[in-house]
Amino acid sequence: MAMVEGILDLPVEKQIFYAVLGFSWTVYLWEAYLSYRQRRTYRSTTQVPQELWKIMDSETFEKSRLYQLDKSNFSFWSGLYSETEGTLILLLGGIPFMWDVAGSVMIRIGLGSEYEITQSLVFLTLATLFSAFTGLPWSVYNTFVIEEKHGFNQQTLGFFLKDTVKKFIVTQCILLPVTSLLLYIIKIGGDYFFIYAWLFTLAVSLVLVTIYADYIAPLFDKFAPLPEGELKTDIEDMAKSISFPLTKVYVVEGSKRSSHSNAYFYGFFKNKRIVLFDTLLEDYSPLNKSGEPQPEQPEREDTSNESKAKPKNKKGCNNSEILAVLGHELGHWKLGHMVKNIVISQMNSFLCFSLFAVLIGRKELFVAFGFNGSQPTLIGLMIIFQFIFSPYNELLSFCLTVLSRRFEFQADAFARSMGKASELCSALIKLNKDNLGFPVADWLFSMWHYSHPPLLERLRALGSIKQD
Ligand SMILES: [Zn+2]
Repeated sequence: MAMVEGILDLPVEKQIFYAVLGFSWTVYLWEAYLSYRQRRTYRSTTQVPQELWKIMDSETFEKSRLYQLDKSNFSFWSGLYSETEGTLILLLGGIPFMWDVAGSVMIRIGLGSEYEITQSLVFLTLATLFSAFTGLPWSVYNTFVIEEKHGFNQQTLGFFLKDTVKKFIVTQCILLPVTSLLLYIIKIGGDYFFIYAWLFTLAVSLVLVTIYADYIAPLFDKFAPLPEGELKTDIEDMAKSISFPLTKVYVVEGSKRSSHSNAYFYGFFKNKRIVLFDTLLEDYSPLNKSGEPQPEQPEREDTSNESKAKPKNKKGCNNSEILAVLGHELGHWKLGHMVKNIVISQMNSFLCFSLFAVLIGRKELFVAFGFNGSQPTLIGLMIIFQFIFSPYNELLSFCLTVLSRRFEFQADAFARSMGKASELCSALIKLNKDNLGFPVADWLFSMWHYSHPPLLERLRALGSIKQD
């Protein structure tokens, strides 16, 4: 009680500051508790549970258990680091310090503080550089120690570093012009600036979605059209059967980075494209051809005689399983999940900009984070969207996770209605195995984090496992 009164006696800007810090640690501790529960599950479930006997052998089970345990331990340390770093930045006034550094860079190039947008861009560049450098050791460790140890990493250090630099440059090329236009719109927008700002971000996200796959993703990965053949015809037939306006099917060389597998589609209106990771395709995946030596296995020249040529740890799905996976993906489209997600995120963004318009004039928000004199708009955006909205953001992200699981069940049911239930089941089992997913989860952890329902629940819903 005394402590609460003590906090209430503080000036309002101090109250805001400690509330933000306190909430951040509350979320951190909650997440740490959930991860602890999940790690406990990894540690204690050392035998394949009976209900999984048919879908997972004990060797794969143990492999995935150790992989997930390593990943969880890693995210414990990286989470602790980033929470501590964030707290220190706030306590030591890192944000106003970097703003001042940006100000002195401005003076060097002969510009005064009246050029707020330019100073904001300098600030943003410094801030993203800072986080790129502090994040680098963590992502190097994740890729070259953890993923490597469990056989997923396919990158060389040179490729990784080049890729990181490229990603940084491409991000800056998008971030800086978009931010400067947004700040300009807020500056000149008058009373209804939040409507223009929202419309602008809406336009930017639509443009990015449109150009991403054609102009941005190919900067990083090789996309090749799926060769003519049975799989391609089958995919086209399936698309036609549900009037999906398919224009092209690509295979992306995901195996260059990692052996995790995936499939997705993109595009607006009548121009939709499907992308398959090469790691998803049994006959296409380089993982089945080169890489790990498999001395007891013959070269996989004749795919006609599968039983003879199948390497022991062959990865990926066969054609009918790939079609089932695509049946699921197309279910997302047919059921309007994309559109629903876009509508939700745009409503949310409108709401946030409206609240931002109400709050941006409050000087105490700036004072709380060490801006006693000036109130730069960019800093206002950071404080309000990131710190002040954080309880709301947490709640929203939980609701979206719940919604996503619902959508996954619906897409599975759609594939089932296309008569692909058993192929989808075997694809899910294979993918879970290839990606070393652990099929047992703590209920609270999975409720909070899992955007996809646990494997067993999906198999049950698809009818492959009888309810007891
Ligand atoms: Zn899905």
